[in-house]
Amino acid sequence: MANTAKVLNIPGSAMVVLIGAAGSGKSTFARAHFRATEILSSDFFRGMVSDDEGDQEATPDAFALLHLALEKRLCRGKLCVVDATNIRAEHRLRLLEYARSYKRSAVAIIFETPLRICVERAASRPGRTVSATIVRQQAKQLAPQLDDDFLREGFLKVFRLKLMEQVEIRRSKAASPRNDRHDS
Ligand code: GDP
Ligand code: MG
Repeated sequence: MANTAKVLNIPGSAMVVLIGAAGSGKSTFARAHFRATEILSSDFFRGMVSDDEGDQEATPDAFALLHLALEKRLCRGKLCVVDATNIRAEHRLRLLEYARSYKRSAVAIIFETPLRICVERAASRPGRTVSATIVRQQAKQLAPQLDDDFLREGFLKVFRLKLMEQVEIRRSKAASPRNDRHDS
């Protein structure tokens, strides 16, 4: 059978920023395509600081740890996947500053999952559920940005994933942390 997977070519030392509403499939995608140690998840860090992945009060502390882990990995030339909604431009710009300061490429993956599906999945997933109201708010914030040129924010590449799309990630060789920090 022909392989019809969409190929995403990603530098091996990149920062990969997942963008999408709750329930759009970001964490499932991350687990399927990346190592556990490569995934920096806001839910995980919320749980780490508060024992509750859904504790919104813990969000600033969770991101403080996420950003620290991001820096330590970027410095080593290790691929990082930032698994958070990343819907607000100012949050993405903060991430892009970290990548720039360690001379790493940034790649965006936008989850264009239909709102109805996000609502269903966010409500029915195991573990932390997210209300339809919140998912709708997130989708409403993201929708007007979808026509924007995310490349202008500083991403090297921007991939847009539709529902049920088969994807294959191909990594180029990671730059040596001690020698050349630029991806070719
Ligand atoms: P996130 O909030 O964007 O991280 O979304 P999740 O990855 O947590 O996915 C939300 C729910 O949708 C989970 O219960 C997943 O198992 C389910 N899900 C995610 N991707 C898919 C998919 O491609 N197909 C199906 N059937 N379910 C999915
Ligand atoms: Mg998630």
